[in-house]
Amino acid sequence: MNQTAIMELHGVHKAYRLGEHLVQALRGVDLQIQRGELLALTGPSGSGKSTILNLCGLIDRADTGDVMINGVNSKSLTERQLTIQRRDTIGFIFQSFNLVPVMTVAENVDYPLFLTGVPLAERKERVAAQLKAVGLHEHAQHLPDALSGGQRQRVAIARALIKRPSIVIADEPTASLDSHTADQVLDLMRERGHAEGAAFIIASHDERLTRRSDRIVALLDGKLQ
Ligand code: ADP
Repeated sequence: MNQTAIMELHGVHKAYRLGEHLVQALRGVDLQIQRGELLALTGPSGSGKSTILNLCGLIDRADTGDVMINGVNSKSLTERQLTIQRRDTIGFIFQSFNLVPVMTVAENVDYPLFLTGVPLAERKERVAAQLKAVGLHEHAQHLPDALSGGQRQRVAIARALIKRPSIVIADEPTASLDSHTADQVLDLMRERGHAEGAAFIIASHDERLTRRSDRIVALLDGKLQ
């Protein structure tokens, strides 16, 4: 693929301290993620998937090795700069959707724009366009409780994409969905990622995901297979 990598991991090691012990979560991971790519990260529980998501999401730092975002080494960034990068370039999607129950669908999607002070007229336009793109414009004024699981995850996709991030990090996004709904949600992520040029990094045990991704990366004991 002749494209610029949006995210690169080079020789990344990460260990956690657990009492007296050091748990080696990642042991020399090299990974490049291209713009618009839907990358599936698979592997058994404890293999290091969440650790990779936390590093790619700039939530945690590597012990050794480099994590590059859009050509910038995250090591060179201060905590404040990391926070700004995370806020402006990364979207997050969770297994349990994490929508705000007292906000309508439109308000949930709008929230990241509201927080960064985007003018109201522009917010309205962008929220309407995102909701249309995920097929939920008719549910804009509903509360999340009134929606099915698949619809809620589509709201979460719209919310993750509203700030036009370069990367969307998704942790087991289909784990609480039935098969048919999970397929639809994955197709939507792929379509929206390709359309917006956002890379999706999705950690999952889900076989269906691996069939619908552009590339599969398997982890075992903190190493890529
Ligand atoms: P996965 O997401 O594939 O289940 P993780 O990245 O959560 O894997 O975990 C990788 C390894 O690191 C496991 O051995 C896990 O027990 C350990 N680990 C993860 N987080 C912590 C932590 N905060 N403290 C101690 N050990 C941890």
